[in-house]
Amino acid sequence: MQLSDHITHITGGGSDGWDTFYRARRMIADGIAVTELNIGEHDIRTHPDILNAMHKAALAGHTGYAAVPGTDALRDAIATRIATRTGVPTTAANILVTPGGQAGLFAAHHATCNPGDTALFIDPYYVTYPGTIRSVGAVPKPIITSPDTGFQPTLDALQRAASGARSLLVNSPNNPTGAVYSGQTMQAIATTCRDHDLWLISDEVYDTQVWEGDHISPRALPDMADRTLVVGSMSKSHAMTGSRVGWICAPEPVIAHLTDLATHTTYGVAGYIQDAAQFALGQGTSVEEQVAAPFCRRRALSMDLLAGQNIVKAVPSQGAMYLMLDIRATGMSGEGFANALLDATHIAVMPGESFGQAAAGHIRIAMTIDDDRYIAALGQVLDFAASCINQ
Ligand code: PLP
Repeated sequence: MQLSDHITHITGGGSDGWDTFYRARRMIADGIAVTELNIGEHDIRTHPDILNAMHKAALAGHTGYAAVPGTDALRDAIATRIATRTGVPTTAANILVTPGGQAGLFAAHHATCNPGDTALFIDPYYVTYPGTIRSVGAVPKPIITSPDTGFQPTLDALQRAASGARSLLVNSPNNPTGAVYSGQTMQAIATTCRDHDLWLISDEVYDTQVWEGDHISPRALPDMADRTLVVGSMSKSHAMTGSRVGWICAPEPVIAHLTDLATHTTYGVAGYIQDAAQFALGQGTSVEEQVAAPFCRRRALSMDLLAGQNIVKAVPSQGAMYLMLDIRATGMSGEGFANALLDATHIAVMPGESFGQAAAGHIRIAMTIDDDRYIAALGQVLDFAASCINQ
């Protein structure tokens, strides 16, 4: 029996550089102590107060079917957060609650792209992007960026790629590079969308993790609110990765159609999870700052350590929980380096190649273990790089 093209073509085939990740996981299963600097997951868990709110909501009976587009109270809380952060008038009618940002990325592409349409995304990219685009039958087309521009897309590259495309997916603060797009980059993105009549899908799941400069939501730029779908999530901002709660913010008619899609797919998000998310948003920005603080601190510690050597170069990053390191001076590929590092030191990092061709010759370090272990591990990575040169 033949399965559908939709399901069999989601991945592009090949390992996409994930061999190292699975090898590290096998080593752990075999009892080897591997230091994992490869996962975008906090080293803290969801705050007990948020869990209490979840528990209370469940005991109070919010365990039946919840409103498909999201509870009014949570949609209001998300709309208020967005309006406060961006200045763009936003109401509950602009919000669909989704089971995490990933479901939002899928739904946003489903809403904007027909089968066969070209959907643009920026390379390096979060690993699910091409597969998400393929899973709605659209054709992923990367726009390659360069370490020389801090992995920010240029107006020229955007304009060259845009002709005939249907949508553009951007992500700032960026996974894997840590780039926070400048005002100039966001203007170039908005200009390109207007010139080529593109839908813009803006993945802002790291909007609370900005260490330098400001997070700009492109929905706030002139004439962009009507063509922009913002994807947000509680995963990174509130350490709620496992709760699967996020949102799409979009024009009202788009949300109405997305609600139809949700009715026929997820049928909404568990009510007690939504109540916990509403409680968490109600705690204000101090909770978000607390969750983000360790990454800001570890980034500063990393810069101090990196300044003491001149083999590995840090790609200047302004946000998110990752460090992108240029290891080309060792003469190795990102994949070769990550594999050799895993064998020699039992430290697991992600090869840049897993995030697209623009990140070849780089590795991505997730700053997601406690400070002391993190600094010791980064020191070992740098020593290993030096040993590769001295061989
Ligand atoms: N977008 C980016 C850039 C991510 O890094 C992630 C997760 O790591 C997601 C979206 C999906 O997050 P979630 O589905 O947990 O909200």
